[in-house]
Amino acid sequence: MLANIIVKPGKIELREIKTPSPSHGEILVKIKVALTCGTDLKAFKRGHPIIPMPGVWGHEFSGIVADVGKGVKGFKKGDKIMAVHSAPCLECRYCKKRLYNLCEKIMDTKVLGAFAEYILLPSYILRQNVFHKPENLTFEEAAFLEPLSCVVHGMESLDIKTSVHALIIGAGSIGLLHLLLLKEKGVTVTVTDKHNNKLRIAKKLGADFVLKPEKIETKLIPPRPPLVKGGKGDFIGFDYVFECTGMSEVWEKSVNYVRKGGTVILFGGCKSGTTVTYDTGRLHYDEISLKGTFHYTPSDVKKAYKLLCEGRLGVSRLISGSYPLKQTQKAFNRLIKGVGIKYAIIP
Ligand SMILES: [Zn+2]
Ligand SMILES: [Zn+2]
Repeated sequence: MLANIIVKPGKIELREIKTPSPSHGEILVKIKVALTCGTDLKAFKRGHPIIPMPGVWGHEFSGIVADVGKGVKGFKKGDKIMAVHSAPCLECRYCKKRLYNLCEKIMDTKVLGAFAEYILLPSYILRQNVFHKPENLTFEEAAFLEPLSCVVHGMESLDIKTSVHALIIGAGSIGLLHLLLLKEKGVTVTVTDKHNNKLRIAKKLGADFVLKPEKIETKLIPPRPPLVKGGKGDFIGFDYVFECTGMSEVWEKSVNYVRKGGTVILFGGCKSGTTVTYDTGRLHYDEISLKGTFHYTPSDVKKAYKLLCEGRLGVSRLISGSYPLKQTQKAFNRLIKGVGIKYAIIP
């Protein structure tokens, strides 16, 4: 089969490799659509600790079951499926505490290689995180299961009410998925990003307000709490701030935008080893909560599946175009320039 190999940052090759055949409890999936993702982009730009190179890559996909191993129940050849690329071990110390997203093995046992003709899904993923694709969803929409699960996980513990006003920093694919989900919950949403074209997309997707970062910083901020001074009426700052850039300076600034007692959700992962500094007064006297969020549990995946099946989010609006497998590099070259949100790679 043909598979896309990331040789090193910036260099992708299409190679012929052996098509895997499914052992007991496994299925082989013919990829119909794979999506580019922020993590892939980071790997393409600078390398990534969880994407080994050289190696196959890509982890957001949907497809058709091409072959099944012995003992597989619930799936047969020809079934249209959607899935995520990992599942918890259910045995480690974190799994025992039901913190499945933090499973000690989940990152080592995840499967990469969606930018290819086929992908093999092992039994532990099949048992927990593979679903039948309903006919009302396109393969493109179905491939959103993985990123949407991440976003669902970040909001899971928040109990978001319709009366809140949230700020999303960064209008990339993850920021915009946050937007779609928050609008589905009936929340008022402001989106900030340095690219005008992304703000335009955010507006189209339903953002109530969009603004450039310098607008927040010069007009409304500081002194703290930032938006109180320059803000209009009784606006006291955002109830929630979703950091979706993965840049340390943005992590630091994000606490300036939240109201007293509010929560900052730190979604965008920074380069490993990065440190940040916070004003203790904001965290202590203003009772700001900082919440890190990583990956998802099988229950988040089920919620994301249900949300996609309901079909109201309109996730396909985040796809900026599609490329055949051999032109994957083109998609990443565009993403690196800030052109487009997410691309579909079609084998
Ligand atoms: Zn992803
Ligand atoms: Zn585990």
